[in-house]
Amino acid sequence: MYDDAMRIKVMNKPRILPLVLMTILPAICWSAQLEVRRDIHFPTLSGYKTLACDFHMHTVFSDGNVWPTIRVNETWRQGLDAIAITDHIEYQPHKTDVPTKHPRSFELAESAARSHNLLLIRAAELTRDTPPGHFNAIFLNDIKPLETPEFLDAVKEANQQEAFVFWNHQGWKGEEKGRWLDVHQTMYDKKWLQGMEVANGDEYYPTAHRWCLEKNLTMLGNSDIHDPDLRKESSSLDHRTMTLVFAREATLAGIKEALVAGRTIVWFKDQLIGREKLLRWFFDACVQVSKPNVRSKTSMYVEVRNNCHADICLEPTDPPQPNQSPQPRTIILPANSTVLMRVPITDPAKPVALAYVAKNFLVAPDKGLPVTLKVSSPASAEKKDAK
Ligand SMILES: [Zn+2]
Ligand SMILES: [Zn+2]
Repeated sequence: MYDDAMRIKVMNKPRILPLVLMTILPAICWSAQLEVRRDIHFPTLSGYKTLACDFHMHTVFSDGNVWPTIRVNETWRQGLDAIAITDHIEYQPHKTDVPTKHPRSFELAESAARSHNLLLIRAAELTRDTPPGHFNAIFLNDIKPLETPEFLDAVKEANQQEAFVFWNHQGWKGEEKGRWLDVHQTMYDKKWLQGMEVANGDEYYPTAHRWCLEKNLTMLGNSDIHDPDLRKESSSLDHRTMTLVFAREATLAGIKEALVAGRTIVWFKDQLIGREKLLRWFFDACVQVSKPNVRSKTSMYVEVRNNCHADICLEPTDPPQPNQSPQPRTIILPANSTVLMRVPITDPAKPVALAYVAKNFLVAPDKGLPVTLKVSSPASAEKKDAK
């Protein structure tokens, strides 16, 4: 009886199963939604990895509007390598629904970060009445001891935990807007302040930029995002404000060492902001000039490659000469692309040095990076062709 029953079952199945599989399987394949990461392409520097980082963001555990794991999903998707969730210690407007629990945003995001291979930094934002302003402490071991009555005691505690402390959105509001007060001098003198945000979300702070240069503080740019970030990718024209960190290794320790050493460039809107030496090194890694393609006795063409994820704007510094053709003009090197430039030949035996200012490589407020595109001599290019 049992065998017969089984046989009947088996006989019946082949008639129905292929039909079911044919109907369901394409639907299963069609509906399998995998998370997709769109990489950010910036070149590495010799001996250093380039890591895209955002060290300032919020969740429902302070005044943000997303669950902590969402911060991991959105930053991974947008090609970032490391983040710090920095919920306010002193300000939790959702606390009737989400009770104050300082460690929770990190704890909840931690396994998601591990599964996405995203580096997650334990951090918090010190949010006292202004002045002194708001400060992020990142690479903390324990957030709770920073709940001190006195602001400076909290900063001292962060430093005792060997955290990296930086001044947020300096030009936002309050008595300290645009001013370096005694409390900041005290922090600086005690070496309790290591960096500043020169850009936060949609704002750039020239004063902070200047102070970072004068006082040798690390430059940072962060999103300070509170709402969900719906971007699917980071592009030259649309990306979150972030910090490019040049780390010896892609680890938390590597990032911390690079921050303390000041090896950062801020990617804010269409600008890359940093110290001149580092920006020059970075520019040289981003831009490559081909050997000339000689067309005639009077002109040649060179291919200029931009290997970075941001468009680069070059403005000529040399004044145009009479009868010079073509006249030097502003050129845009689109991200991850090559442009073809026509260069006049004056002496076939001599290399050509084209002087520009990279307008969106900001070495100081309103000051671009002077650069030179070096083109080998037309004669040498012709010799190479002959080999
Ligand atoms: Zn703040
Ligand atoms: Zn904030």
